[in-house]
Amino acid sequence: MRDRRELFRQAADIAAAYRQSAVERPVGRAPNLETLRKGFHRELPSRGIAPDQVLDSLVAAAEPGLVSSAGPRYFGFVTGGSLDGATAAEIVATGWDQNGFSPVMSPAAMIAEEAAGVWLKDLLRLPATATVGFATGTQQATTILLAAARQKVLADRGWNVGVEGLAGSPRLRVVASAERHATIDRSLRLLGIGTAAITEVSTDDNGATLEKEMLAELDAHRDAATIVCLQVGNVNTGAVDPLRRVCEAAREVGAWVHVDGAFGLWTAASPALNYLVDGVDLADSWSTDGHKWLNVPYDSGYAICAHPEIHSAAVGYTAAYLEGAGGASMGDLVLDSSRRARGFATWAAILELGRDGIADMVDRCCELAKRFARTLADGGVEIVNEVVLNQALASFGNNDRTDAVIKAVQEEGTCWLGGTTWRGRRMMRISVSNWSTTEEDIDRSARAILDVARKT
Ligand SMILES: *Cc1c(COP(=O)(O)O)cnc(C)c1O
Repeated sequence: MRDRRELFRQAADIAAAYRQSAVERPVGRAPNLETLRKGFHRELPSRGIAPDQVLDSLVAAAEPGLVSSAGPRYFGFVTGGSLDGATAAEIVATGWDQNGFSPVMSPAAMIAEEAAGVWLKDLLRLPATATVGFATGTQQATTILLAAARQKVLADRGWNVGVEGLAGSPRLRVVASAERHATIDRSLRLLGIGTAAITEVSTDDNGATLEKEMLAELDAHRDAATIVCLQVGNVNTGAVDPLRRVCEAAREVGAWVHVDGAFGLWTAASPALNYLVDGVDLADSWSTDGHKWLNVPYDSGYAICAHPEIHSAAVGYTAAYLEGAGGASMGDLVLDSSRRARGFATWAAILELGRDGIADMVDRCCELAKRFARTLADGGVEIVNEVVLNQALASFGNNDRTDAVIKAVQEEGTCWLGGTTWRGRRMMRISVSNWSTTEEDIDRSARAILDVARKT
């Protein structure tokens, strides 16, 4: 076996070489699952092998199935890439192998989360007193925060849901956009609230909830145990729900406002764009991702709550063997007990870009999305949404043709985009959320799409 330092150097070399190549390799690799199965499915070995052979075997097996989603021309979903400094920090953090459950298990992990949490709230212009749980992503963060919401609105009605459960409790009411992200529904299912509790509010042409309708819903049921779910960044169009007046009205009737800002909440970090999220700080809880627009490596999300006691009452726990573990645990703010020390990579990403760098990245992605949409429109493609953030939707005529163009673009390999259904029509969905995407990447991708469309 080669020595340990050489092994880890080799691992870092592989990661660096891959990231270098991600700039130029074809973006949309057709998945060859058979090749991958041949590489991974082997007879379970009875004896192990040397670590360097393990590394060689993994690279050989995985390489044919890697997707260049970290590269600059991947516009699928809302993916983001990963910053170099944050990725290097994550590699080192893996080497440290810290358990981020409690301060006694890793004081460094705790203080990194504490400090990164202070920075996050500052950047996102949220209350300095809020708690920040470092979760796996927005799905987990939303689940935690809707658990906190459930705890609070029921406690206000004399019901301790943690002890008594939901059977026989006052009925919960969830007011949410008809265009909410599907993860809201999953969280409601998991929490026993159920999707039937949802009152849907309709949206405008760009997918933002109608303020008037939302306010009327709150006013019509002033005594109900209500949770309002607002969205900052519609997953198709980037549209932002009305915030200030809805938050004020919710406060007046004792409703909890949760904001799903998986990517869009990062708009708050841009002095040029933060007028779009005016009033967002008045909500009770916010879920957002590090692994999308902040370009932190997977996985990284934040559960931010304006009510610290309720946050830990809803998801924290204690046990005899944990007593004297050093006070408040990071694990009390999320759903995992033993966990990765997620604060290091976020702290590193913010240090790498700084306040101005983060604002620039957000502004640049929005500008590039507009440029992408404009170039396609000039080439005769219909852009159906108002490009308010980093998301654009393109139609190539009818549904079949749009799907055919998406498929052909994916095969051509210059860039990768997915499809969606918007208001009953198939659309090509464009999301610009990678720190390394340039104007040249946009122009090259738009040219490739127009060329493919001409032939389709
Ligand atoms: C991506 C996304 C989510 C889910 O976030 P994960 O990090 O994938 O769990 C929720 N809401 C919106 C608006 C999103 O874009």
